[in-house]
Amino acid sequence: MNCKQLETLVAAYADGEIDALRSYSIRKHLHICAGCAARHRSILALRARIRTEVTYFAAPPALQARVCATVGAVRATALPRSNPRSDRWRWLSGGVLAGCTASVLAWMLGTTVLAWHVDAEIAGAAVAAHVRAGLGDHLIEVASSDRHTVKPWLSARLDYSPPVQDLASEGFTLIGGRLDYLERRPVATLIYRHGKHTIDVFVRPAGSHASTPALRTVRGFNVAHASGPSMDWLAVSDVGPAQLSAFVQRLAREDISR
Ligand SMILES: [Zn+2]
Repeated sequence: MNCKQLETLVAAYADGEIDALRSYSIRKHLHICAGCAARHRSILALRARIRTEVTYFAAPPALQARVCATVGAVRATALPRSNPRSDRWRWLSGGVLAGCTASVLAWMLGTTVLAWHVDAEIAGAAVAAHVRAGLGDHLIEVASSDRHTVKPWLSARLDYSPPVQDLASEGFTLIGGRLDYLERRPVATLIYRHGKHTIDVFVRPAGSHASTPALRTVRGFNVAHASGPSMDWLAVSDVGPAQLSAFVQRLAREDISR
């Protein structure tokens, strides 16, 4: 058993669908190969998370019947009867394949649902930070419309240097910055004024909230997200969704040059 062979079998193995002889070879390989062992552990961990965190819905009988009928039809066309000697092998490999497909499907479903939870949490946390800052006197810690003042102030307090742009000519005036927290991590926050509205823009290194949907409304506030080449941008405001979205995309587009 080598890594390449195990790659296609590890999910089925985790589901207990591999015969005893091959299970023995897989177990032996997992003892000596850290990479495959890690992959195996992550499948088990994901399965545990899916069991505890994902809501379970029982399929209604009509849907169950329809799925079974579809699977039956696919089997009939995919596995035409041929010589009986190979039938058993086909049945066996078909079983393993079905197991793998089920695991992959469960994994996809699980990660999608988990990502969705995370996104809603980030958007909710961003709105909470925006509201908290607006209620207290914490909205602006460094008051300046000069990006050469705001940027070094933030850089000195973070392990990254957020790009800062003033878009006053486009109706979005930089009025300052502050250090806030998202998901228990400090995050650069830029504050802009647009007419009578205040916009909080949370800036984090790219990949921090890559899967956040582009636009979301939480408790009446709009949350717009855009990914730039170096940073992730999350804007919260009561500015209209289309405008907020265009603004955050504008910021993200040029985040490397500043
Ligand atoms: Zn291996």
